[in-house]
Amino acid sequence: MNPTEQLIRQKFQQYYLTHSKGYYAPPNPAEREYGFLLFKEKFMVRHRSFKDPAQLIAAIRELVPAHVYFSTAYYGDPTASMDEKGWKRADLVFDIDADHLDTPCKPKHDTWKCKACAATGKGGAPKICPKCKNDRLEEQTWLCKECLQRAKEETSKLLEILYSDLGINPPDTHIFFSGHRGYHVHVYSKELGLFEEEARREIANYVLGQGLDPELHELEEHSVGGTTIIEGPQLGQPGWRGRMTAGIHDVLGAEGEQYGLSSAQTRTAQTRTLMAQDRDAFFGRQFWSSVKGIGLSTWKILLLRAVQERAANIDSVVTTDVHRLIRLPGTLNGHTGLMAMEVQKEKLDGYDPFSESLVFQGTMKVKVKDAPRFELGNQQFGPFQNQETELPSSAAMLLLCKRRAEPIG
Ligand SMILES: [Zn+2]
Ligand SMILES: [Zn+2]
Repeated sequence: MNPTEQLIRQKFQQYYLTHSKGYYAPPNPAEREYGFLLFKEKFMVRHRSFKDPAQLIAAIRELVPAHVYFSTAYYGDPTASMDEKGWKRADLVFDIDADHLDTPCKPKHDTWKCKACAATGKGGAPKICPKCKNDRLEEQTWLCKECLQRAKEETSKLLEILYSDLGINPPDTHIFFSGHRGYHVHVYSKELGLFEEEARREIANYVLGQGLDPELHELEEHSVGGTTIIEGPQLGQPGWRGRMTAGIHDVLGAEGEQYGLSSAQTRTAQTRTLMAQDRDAFFGRQFWSSVKGIGLSTWKILLLRAVQERAANIDSVVTTDVHRLIRLPGTLNGHTGLMAMEVQKEKLDGYDPFSESLVFQGTMKVKVKDAPRFELGNQQFGPFQNQETELPSSAAMLLLCKRRAEPIG
């Protein structure tokens, strides 16, 4: 372990030794597999199980891991090898992470480097290196307000789809801040828990609005007495039909001109939809024919844009995996020093991950290599460039965990 890791581990240890509250016990904690990623050589200890939460806390205190995970699956014997664990069911989980969101701030705070040819770039890493086509790319990411706000909005969209379309019971859903760049939603349901990968993939695709064809959802063109009439889905219809139509409003307002609408038409469309009492009338049967210059093919493009706007941008790999290890809430995230924690549904809108997930007290002196300007605990810091500074411990730990700073002395 290098001095930075040693210091982080020491702080994590102090925290875990002095705090016994705030740990989160998932349903049936004894049927879960636990995994610990250690600081030392990034070694993964897994296939562990604990009869009661006190034993788990004891293990965390002894190992002082950088990351603590538990299985979304329930097993007969969580300590056995994968084939012999005796899979019973698994929580349905959704992962929303800024890694998968196309936020405009990324070029300002994220960089990537190709491990093969050392090419570098700004923003999120491409799938393959544009120079040597290698796929081993290393990212240096930052967590910013804008990214986490977007992640929160995606979470709200997800919950709306789960509740209104898939009939998921709100009390069965639990929302967690990951302690880094996103949110997790766990659904505890005996029936859904039995779903295998294929069924979960369908749910993921539904939430992502993948493969939606507006022409299979009532968008159609026909001729009445020589006049071409376009009809489409109605506002207020259940599922994606109503949602797509509602999304059209945003798309027309923001991007109408791109599709050949004059700014006056866009404005009219916007004003008319914004007046709530006109909204239903506006999206009546005759709406689709009423906007001059927009034919069937353009409506199709606009509806697909509306789907993109209204879809919840989840990482479908996580939802599909029935053996997933996922971060245990109430533990520290080794990428940031922030606590992964449950967020009450009613409080999601006002939840501030940059103040509510802080655990470290006091101040620490560190040497910062480079860091963008950031806010933590309602205080502003940075930007920093090769400078020694004394910071509140949570800010110093964030920089240490992000490898943007080193201990002094
Ligand atoms: Zn390369
Ligand atoms: Zn950002």
